[in-house]
Amino acid sequence: MRKKYIIITGWVISWIWKWVTSAATGFFFAEKHKVTPIKLDWYLNVDPGTMNPHEHGEVFVLHDGSEVDMDFGHYERFLWNTCEGIQSISMGKIFAGILEKERRGDFLGKTVQMIPHVTDYIVDRIEETFAQTGWDICMVEVGGTVGDIEAELYFEAIRQMRHRKKRGDFLHIHLTYVPIPGGVQEQKTKPTQQSVNLLQSRGLFPDIIVARSVSPLSSDSRRKIALFSNLREDRVFSIPDVASIYTIPSLLKKQKIDKVVYGLLGVPFFEGKKLEIWDNILKNEAKKSIHIGIVGKYTALEDSYSSVVEALYHAGYNLGVHIDISFINTRTKDGISGVKKCDGCIVPGWFGDTAIENMIDTLQYIRENNIPCLWICLGLQLMTIEYARNILGIKKANSLEFSKTKDDVITLLDSQKKVVNKWGTMRLGGQNSILKTSQIYDLYTSAKRISDIDIVTERFRHRYEVHPEFAKKLQKSDLQVVGKSQKEGIVQFIEMKQDIHPYYAATQAHPELTSKLENPGPLFMGLVRACMK
Ligand code: GLN
Repeated sequence: MRKKYIIITGWVISWIWKWVTSAATGFFFAEKHKVTPIKLDWYLNVDPGTMNPHEHGEVFVLHDGSEVDMDFGHYERFLWNTCEGIQSISMGKIFAGILEKERRGDFLGKTVQMIPHVTDYIVDRIEETFAQTGWDICMVEVGGTVGDIEAELYFEAIRQMRHRKKRGDFLHIHLTYVPIPGGVQEQKTKPTQQSVNLLQSRGLFPDIIVARSVSPLSSDSRRKIALFSNLREDRVFSIPDVASIYTIPSLLKKQKIDKVVYGLLGVPFFEGKKLEIWDNILKNEAKKSIHIGIVGKYTALEDSYSSVVEALYHAGYNLGVHIDISFINTRTKDGISGVKKCDGCIVPGWFGDTAIENMIDTLQYIRENNIPCLWICLGLQLMTIEYARNILGIKKANSLEFSKTKDDVITLLDSQKKVVNKWGTMRLGGQNSILKTSQIYDLYTSAKRISDIDIVTERFRHRYEVHPEFAKKLQKSDLQVVGKSQKEGIVQFIEMKQDIHPYYAATQAHPELTSKLENPGPLFMGLVRACMK
């Protein structure tokens, strides 16, 4: 099969579910074909690794250790594959590459220009990535919206690509928003019409329009959009607001997007089984409702903990439980009143010393009141500090990240001691740990996520660890180290003895990153089950 490109652009607002459209379209190919998602971001950071999650949402970590946009989390969840860092292209990477080429003399004698040098380089990067992954279908999500100054080079590059490709090898899906203004109970398609004009003035003619809206697109709106976009009505699709993003492939299939896209690309149609698997899980009726608190620093923007939220939903759907989530901000002092209302809690990852001391009382409350809790990355470190201070009597116990204390129960990883640059230098990506018999071991075993020699693989993103000497002391307490890294012996999993606390599971890893609807993260399953009791 010849390589096929599907380009996804968007309009009105950048947060419009371009990834949903891309992932849900790729979904119909991913069982038979290899689908490479590529994301083009307009920002000048090389990657989002150093961005504040409040500005950019969660930083997703791939198995290869790359720090990428949170959309890749959704791609991995929808497309059943493991992405690689090269699939994330930012303007930072583009300009760094161009300047390197210029210094090397690749453009000798030439004046280096945005067009054609930068646009050619963008096309080359997309094509090289696609070639390197060796896959059949490339979904390219163009960040930003048509008309953004920052994204213009990408739109021009896409235009050139279309020009170079054979008919049937290049498909352009344009996603727009159809508002219903207050007071007028009618969908308004003018913004969509205008965005198609904007695309046309850039030499781009979308093959498919997908309209996001509060309610399903009316037949009148569909007709208007088709008319102004020179498309047949069956090329206009609707994604209304839905309770679960996992229902979107099904919703698009009902509108026959799979048949249309297969047809336009000239690929023989294949009916997969995955949709049925998802539908069966989603059919699990919620017989119960539980309330989980996410106690963290970046709670002002829900997207900051996007994968944690998804992983909770995965467990909920599989166990037939409705999950209500509250975000409890550790910057304020009302942590205890927040967690009091919850059946269970998650203390996820973050960086820096803000709000740490505010937290300790809340963590003590969680422990003393037997609230089931999953501690992730910084969560594990804070839980250890609280235990060291309040149970083991090490009053000044702290992390070297927050204080220069000699009682650094959390200390800098050996591998970090000489690190100067902040970019991509943490302990990152997929790592193996060896588990001992424990509650955590049982959870990984029942999820079939452990090897014959008791190894589990999760992804990591940290600079600090439980001090190896302190870990020895812990073994004499009720808090047990139950998993260490296979290579360096770093503490990776800790749990409270089960007769002391119903669910007190901690990991230095980010188990939320590998949770899938059809293969939910074992530690999230454990938490939700404990809350149901
Ligand atoms: N700040 C902590 C560290 O660097 C935890 C990081 C995290 O939660 N991802 O080790």
